[in-house]
Amino acid sequence: MNSTLQQTLLAAIRTIPDYPKPGIQFRDITTLLGNARAFRRAVDELVHPYSGTGVSQIAGIEARGFILGGAMAHQLSAGFVPIRKKGKLPHTTVRVAYSLEYGVDEMEMHTDAVQPGEKVILVDDLIATGGTAEGAVKLLRQMGADIVAACFVIDLPELGGRKKLEALGVDVRTLIEFGGH
Ligand code: AMP
Repeated sequence: MNSTLQQTLLAAIRTIPDYPKPGIQFRDITTLLGNARAFRRAVDELVHPYSGTGVSQIAGIEARGFILGGAMAHQLSAGFVPIRKKGKLPHTTVRVAYSLEYGVDEMEMHTDAVQPGEKVILVDDLIATGGTAEGAVKLLRQMGADIVAACFVIDLPELGGRKKLEALGVDVRTLIEFGGH
């Protein structure tokens, strides 16, 4: 990846120290989304390897994964599948528990959102411990999806999320890294 792209993305992301609690450096992508050039470049770079590969659905994790995923789906002429916190989806769902830093939560997907064997890309803004993305991978695989890749703008490599997904046999694509939490 060229350094200009990385510089553009790094410059467009705002870091909020000690949010939502002390010790966390919150990587705020709202500034990237509000920067037309940076937003476009991030989406172009995320989809770049997958044009013409037969990916038919983009699965986005609530909520920032919806914004990136909608744009990616448009670029790839694919559909979009929302993966949501429990209780938000109106039709029949599959549900999985996933680990957060403290405790667990649950996420859901509609049972008819993906067909067995369909090629799907999973997307979220950032991967940290990988607990959230791991839950989404389990849901998609339960419905028989062929997960072509999991894509994130930001990787926090010290938290090990990429390795966790790779251990599940998922190809991971990230655009920039930040040290620490
Ligand atoms: P994890 O399950 O630990 O990989 O956490 C990933 C999820 O939490 C993603 O949906 C991120 O948007 C959010 N997240 C975790 N850490 C941060 C951070 N330092 N800055 C912004 N978002 C974060």
